[in-house]
Amino acid sequence: MRVVQHYDLIIVGGGISGLSLAHYAAALGRNVLVVEKTDRVGGAIHSHRFEGGSRDFWLELGAHTCYNSYAAFLGIVEDLGLIGRLRRREKVPFRLLVGNDIKSIPSQINFVEFLLSAPRFFFLKKDGKTVESYYSRIVGRRNYDAVFRHLFNAVPSQRSNDFPADILFKRRQRRKDVMRSFTFEDGLQCVTDAIAAQPGIDVRKADEVVEIVAGNDGFVVATAGGARLRAGYIALATPAETSARLLCAVHERLALELQTVAAARVETLGVAVPKSSVALDPFAGIVPTGDGFYSVVSRDTVPHQDFRGFAFHFRPGQFEFEAKRRRVSEFLGMSPEGPDRMTTKDNVVPAFTVGHERKVEAIDALLSNRNILLVGNYFRGVSIEDCVLRSKREFERIKAGIVAGAE
Ligand SMILES: Cc1cc2nc3c(=O)[nH]c(=O)nc-3n(C[C@H](O)[C@H](O)[C@H](O)COP(=O)(O)OP(=O)(O)OC[C@H]3O[C@@H](n4cnc5c(N)ncnc54)[C@H](O)[C@@H]3O)c2cc1C
Repeated sequence: MRVVQHYDLIIVGGGISGLSLAHYAAALGRNVLVVEKTDRVGGAIHSHRFEGGSRDFWLELGAHTCYNSYAAFLGIVEDLGLIGRLRRREKVPFRLLVGNDIKSIPSQINFVEFLLSAPRFFFLKKDGKTVESYYSRIVGRRNYDAVFRHLFNAVPSQRSNDFPADILFKRRQRRKDVMRSFTFEDGLQCVTDAIAAQPGIDVRKADEVVEIVAGNDGFVVATAGGARLRAGYIALATPAETSARLLCAVHERLALELQTVAAARVETLGVAVPKSSVALDPFAGIVPTGDGFYSVVSRDTVPHQDFRGFAFHFRPGQFEFEAKRRRVSEFLGMSPEGPDRMTTKDNVVPAFTVGHERKVEAIDALLSNRNILLVGNYFRGVSIEDCVLRSKREFERIKAGIVAGAE
């Protein structure tokens, strides 16, 4: 194996987890390489610009909203000088799709059942409970089945009944000086692009890491493009199953533990249409109570003068592209050929189950005193803030060593 370049830290995966870790390491003068298998960084943060569309029109194909409770993420935004480019999201409603009818969420809730159940909120603990067992008692069984189950599924774009009840929504302190929910003038991707453009961070795009082996004083990383790269520290910022595969030759027990973290895929079809071609009232998102997609998230929260955009998050493996196009056209009330501007994107999201916390503890115990870092959205939550917090903690763990080692 011919080694061509040496880094303090090589990070596999250029989503927000890998990039936020790169940001912390580069801020301390470490020499970092991010290897990303696709031709763009950002991963599930993807503000897509359509060919032939307006230059200032983008559509989020993955994450779309940040909150003023995202303190760690906002810290990076400030480091990058982007805080002045925050953009408030317009208040437009979330709706339910019941059969073919778009309904308001309150209109579908049985308020007698809700009021009889809601007092349980004050004494029922989330610990050890699933989303279904906890929330069906808080909102009432019928309300849960008819309404809330679908809303909860739309959050991680998968069936979330068996998720631990405490993983989806977290109480965090809010920053009073920042708007409650926001995006950016150019979409969320401007943050990941800006991290990747910093000095001290090299990015190798469109090249997949295929093997990692332990060397004399660190690791040798092999890519599908034939590169051989060396580093004292290695970080995996990929879905758990990919990290497990890549770590097999380096730390077998860790790889086995990672294999126990399940994942789901979400197939997104994003479309842009001239404003005049769709009659639907502006909305933030619509969640069907029975359809091929978990949700459709719109760009109406950041209105554009000429275009509207919609990201349909489909259940995986059920529909060919043509079937998705037909469903999207029908939903938008367009001709069967559908919108001219379309794009697709697949994302992987973790499928949490009760007891996940113990897996994370086992993973962290195996990482102790190792030059291996594991970051991603499968630790204590899936949000952007959860990802950044994990990267921050992982970097703190090895900070003293990586600084001393490079001197
Ligand atoms: C549809 C959707 C909507 C969401 N909405 C929100 C939201 O509104 N707000 C919020 O806070 N969070 C949201 N999230 C969650 C959040 O966006 C993600 O959890 C987070 O962006 C994941 O970041 P990551 O870096 O851990 O993983 P990813 O973004 O998946 O990045 C992993 C990267 O690793 C690369 N990779 C994989 N294998 C290799 C390899 N062998 N070699 C090199 N590179 C590799 C991939 O190409 C990818 O770029 C949403 C997620 C989805 C899917």
